[in-house]
Amino acid sequence: MKKAIFLDRDGTLIEDSDYAYRIEDLKIYPGVVEGLKLLQNDYLFFIITNQSGIGKGFYTTKDFHRFNNSLLEQLKNQNIIIERTYFCPHIGNCECKKPSTKYIEEIVSEFGINLAESWVVGDHPSDIIMGKNVGCKTAYLLAGHGTKHFQELELKRINPTIIAEDFLYVAKQINYRT
Ligand SMILES: [Mg+2]
Ligand SMILES: [Zn+2]
Repeated sequence: MKKAIFLDRDGTLIEDSDYAYRIEDLKIYPGVVEGLKLLQNDYLFFIITNQSGIGKGFYTTKDFHRFNNSLLEQLKNQNIIIERTYFCPHIGNCECKKPSTKYIEEIVSEFGINLAESWVVGDHPSDIIMGKNVGCKTAYLLAGHGTKHFQELELKRINPTIIAEDFLYVAKQINYRT
């Protein structure tokens, strides 16, 4: 069975500049390309991202796609393929906002993924909770909003598999454990 890495986007792959949608604000973190390259032979990559900025009217779904496609293109130019991007555009209650496991369940039924051998990487407690709820291994990044939410993570005793400063370190750790 295939293995996957479910990637948060903002604050994990790219700088989280609060509801970013302008392409000039798109900044891939150092180490992300190198890290993904380390993992791409063993894992499929999926982005799962909460985009409440759409629901709040800060930008449109079209803006989101334009911005996200630019990221996918930049990665593709480095021969890194993201299989698909899943996003929740909602505010308030819905069935797809992380930590909802809806998108992971969809991916599993479509791609056939071994969740116990897969990882969630993110900078928010909701990423880690989603991963734990489906039995994935989890990596919590202190890079984006991670430091801000770390206290919350501790309070909830969420206990990610890895806690790290940067994406490349996480990728090396995952690679080492694979
Ligand atoms: Mg994030
Ligand atoms: Zn939603």
